[in-house]
Amino acid sequence: MTTANEAAGIKALDRAGLGALVEELGEKRFRVGQIERWLYGVGVGSFAEMTDLSAGLREKLAGRLALPSLRVVTRQESSDGTRKYLVALGDGTTVEVVGLPTPDRLTVCFSTQAGCAMGCSFCATGLAGLTRDLGPGEMVDQIRLVADDFGRRVTNAVAMGQGEPFTNYDATLGALRFMNNPDTIGIGARHITVSTCGLLNGIRKFADEPEQFTLAVSLHSAVQKTRDRLMPGVRGIALPDLRRELVAYAEKTGRRPSLEYALIAGVNDTAEELTALIRFARGLLVHVNLIPVNPVRESGFGRATGERVAVFQRELHMSGIQASVRAERGADIDAACGQLRQRSEKPDKS
Ligand code: SAH
Ligand code: SF4
Repeated sequence: MTTANEAAGIKALDRAGLGALVEELGEKRFRVGQIERWLYGVGVGSFAEMTDLSAGLREKLAGRLALPSLRVVTRQESSDGTRKYLVALGDGTTVEVVGLPTPDRLTVCFSTQAGCAMGCSFCATGLAGLTRDLGPGEMVDQIRLVADDFGRRVTNAVAMGQGEPFTNYDATLGALRFMNNPDTIGIGARHITVSTCGLLNGIRKFADEPEQFTLAVSLHSAVQKTRDRLMPGVRGIALPDLRRELVAYAEKTGRRPSLEYALIAGVNDTAEELTALIRFARGLLVHVNLIPVNPVRESGFGRATGERVAVFQRELHMSGIQASVRAERGADIDAACGQLRQRSEKPDKS
């Protein structure tokens, strides 16, 4: 079984964990698929509802594990249709989830941890540190919640909410597999993206997973000193090592990860920073995603001008590097990248 927070109950288990449980209870292996469908395809709130399991098994399960559900604490809707939810987990810990609709897509930005230990200076999530890891089921439930609220199928999922997914690697992968299962949520692997602050062994492991999940790496500066200052949690990671890992990733998978780059006025939008970024990205199979940094009150950082963003994009293109500017969504409800924060159940308005 996966290590798990007690409060997550059965939502702390990945598929292997469910397998071990079923075996321990002396049941046949196919029960795993049935339980998975009830939990993440139907979304039941109790074991009693799992009607194709024997009454004895339902009782044994209920006697052993809790089956907590998410509870929506607040729900906000942006003028652009983006919705942000503050949800409470079984133990009252809260995380934020965002649903981003377009006519042909519904993307969910889900959280893998409550808070984050990495402490990036431009990001609201890490301000109060890490509260706890989420279990796989607690991640999948975020997808279900948004699907139900919009009354639509979720087509894309991105682990870009709260948390650093690769410090909660096994639970995150477990969640991705549940999301990918055509019998439950059925999101195509390529439409499931994990964003990391660049943890090398996480990238290495992710490259070896059999599914074609998508990778995004938060770079934010190709100058070591700047990156160390912006992202103190990954200060120990040398940029040439990160670059080598991306080369290895491309060789193993043939897939193109994106490099996230939040442009901050006067910090990483200078000519020197641009030269370093081009040197880093040139020759790599990557796509650079430029994001004018979203304001986080405590950081004191300002966004780069539209002109600087355009210069970055143009110069990258001219160097043969794919680059796009990410459209900001949900900023009026603090739902844009980096604006998700730990809130208490009764959010104050300060
Ligand atoms: N911990 C992971 C995933 C969650 S953050 C990571 O860091 O990649 C999701 C994305 O939002 C990351 O690319 C992150 O760097 C970016 N981000 C954080 N704060 C931001 C801000 N204020 N403005 C724009 N993007 C931000
Ligand atoms: Fe954590 Fe990512 Fe925010 Fe950094 S940017 S503090 S790694 S959530």
